Amino acid sequence: MCIFCKAAKREIPVKVVLEDDDLLAFHDINPVAPIHVLVIPKQHITGVGDVTAEHAEVLGKLLVAARRVAEDAGLSHSGFRVVINQGQHAGQTVHHLHVHVLGGRPLAWPPG
Ligand code: 5GP
Ligand code: ZN
Repeated sequence: MCIFCKAAKREIPVKVVLEDDDLLAFHDINPVAPIHVLVIPKQHITGVGDVTAEHAEVLGKLLVAARRVAEDAGLSHSGFRVVINQGQHAGQTVHHLHVHVLGGRPLAWPPG
């Protein structure tokens, strides 16, 4: 079972900020910004490279949850970034779909 499937089942410790039947949001273990939360589907999906129309509902829920996480973290006014890395060039290291919610400092663009 992958590490984020284990997180979804609470088989590894994670600092949860939001949970419902379909999703879990928790603090990244190695934050790169003052706020760095990951939102994952509880269902194992490898990444954006594998999504189909059947995933549309859960994908929509991921973005709604990202907005709630950002709002709860006080980022609505300052702004925040929502990132999904796919594959090698994007630096994807965990092959279970996850949305990064980043904020709390100015974020450079374009990304490195
Ligand atoms: P990726 O590079 O695949 O887009 O992002 C994976 C993220 O998962 C990284 O930011 C990394 O710090 C985080 N991560 C990896 N393993 C764990 C873990 O066991 N717990 C938590 N909370 N975050 C993790
Ligand atoms: Zn998984």
